[in-house]
Amino acid sequence: TYLFVNRDKGSSVYAAVGKFLEKRGDWKRQPPDSPRFNLMLGDRNKLPWHKTGQIPGLTQVVNYYRGSEVLCRKTSMTRMFKDHCKRTKVAAFPWLPGSFVLTARDVKSGSQLHPARHKTGISRSDEREELRQCVKDSSNDTMWIVKSTAGSKGEGILISRDVEELISYVDDQPKAFVCQRYIHPPLLLSHRRKFDIRCWVLVDLFYNVYLYRQGVLRTASDSYTDDLSHVTAHLTNHCLQKEMSDNFGTYEEGNEMFYDEFDRYLRQEHSVSLESKIMPQIRTITCTCFRIIQDQINTGSEGHRSFQLFGLDFMLDEHFKVWLLEVNGAPACANKLLPDMVRSLVETTVDPAFPPRVPVQYGENLFERL
Ligand code: ADP
Ligand code: MG
Ligand code: MG
Ligand code: MG
Repeated sequence: TYLFVNRDKGSSVYAAVGKFLEKRGDWKRQPPDSPRFNLMLGDRNKLPWHKTGQIPGLTQVVNYYRGSEVLCRKTSMTRMFKDHCKRTKVAAFPWLPGSFVLTARDVKSGSQLHPARHKTGISRSDEREELRQCVKDSSNDTMWIVKSTAGSKGEGILISRDVEELISYVDDQPKAFVCQRYIHPPLLLSHRRKFDIRCWVLVDLFYNVYLYRQGVLRTASDSYTDDLSHVTAHLTNHCLQKEMSDNFGTYEEGNEMFYDEFDRYLRQEHSVSLESKIMPQIRTITCTCFRIIQDQINTGSEGHRSFQLFGLDFMLDEHFKVWLLEVNGAPACANKLLPDMVRSLVETTVDPAFPPRVPVQYGENLFERL
C-alpha cells in the first residue's frame, strides 16, 4: 500500500481526495506528522518543504509547487507580470486590468512601513506615482478597486473613482495592496447582475497544465448600480453574497451558475456561445500565466515532486472580453463538481507516480490538457 498524510484540515478538496484514496483500498492514511508518506496533502500556510526527501528510496509527492505564490499573491502577481513585460519588451498583457502595488506609508517620515516581501528579486517600490500618472491619462469616469495582497473572499476591498481616497485607505493599514482598474461596464446576467467565473487549473507532476471542463459563475444577488458602496452589487464572492444579501439564492441556487446554463444564456440573449467566444480567451490566458512563471517555480530536485490545483477568477466585460482578476493557490470546489474533480485530479496527478494496485475504472477525465 501507498501512504498519505493530510496536514490541511481546512481544504474540502483535499479532505475528499484523502477519502477517495482510502476508499480505493491501495492507500493508507498516516498521522499528519508522520515522516513516512508517499503523498503529502500539505498545509497551505505552512508547507514543510524540509520534511520531504528524508527517506532514501521513497518517492514523495506534495500537492503544492514551491514558488507558486508569485502568481497567488496579488502584489507579487502584479510585479511579476510587469517585470516579465519589461524583460521581454512587450506591452502589458491585454487581459490584465491595469494594476499598481500600494504599500502603507509612515506619513511623518514618508518611508514605507511595510514593504512587501522581497522574495522574487522584483522591485519592491510602491507604485502610487505611476498610478497617479495613469489616472491623469485615463478618462474621468475610470473606477479603481484596492484589494489586500493576501486577502480573500472579498475582504478589505474598496472601490472608488477617487484614487486619493484609495491611497489614504491603504496608508491606514499595515498591509500591501493592489490597486486595479475596475472592469466596467461588466457583462450582466438577468436582472442586471454581475458575476465572475471561477476556473480550476491543475498543474501535474511534469508541469503540464490542465483546465477543468466545468467552471462556475458566482453571481451577484443584487442589480449592478452606480453606487460603489453597494457591496453585493459589485463584489461577487460567495461568502459576501451569502452573508450580506437578502436575495441570496433568489436567481440561482447558492448563487452558482454552471457552464451549460451560462451557455444557454449567451446563445439566447447575445447569440454567442461559451465555447467559441469565451473559452479560447480563458485557455490563452491560463497558458500564458503558467508558462511565464515556470522558471520561477521549483519543479524538482527537492526530494519530492509536486502538483497543484489553482483557482483562477475571471470577469467578462460587455464586449465578451475576458479579464484575469486573481489566481488562488488553494481553491475550494463547488460541491456539485467535487466528486468528478477529485477522481480526475487523482487520475492526473497521483496515479502516474503511484500506479493503482487495485483495478480502477474511472469515468471521463474532466481535466483538459492545454
Ligand atoms: P478575492 O476573491 O481574493 O477577495 P478578487 O480579486 O477575486 O479577490 O476580487 C473579489 C471580487 O471583487 C471579484 O470576484 C469581483 O466580483 C470583484 N472584482 C475584483 N477585481 C475587480 C476588477 N478589477 N474589476 C471589477 N470587479 C472586480
Ligand atoms: Mg482570492
Ligand atoms: Mg476571488
Ligand atoms: Mg490569494
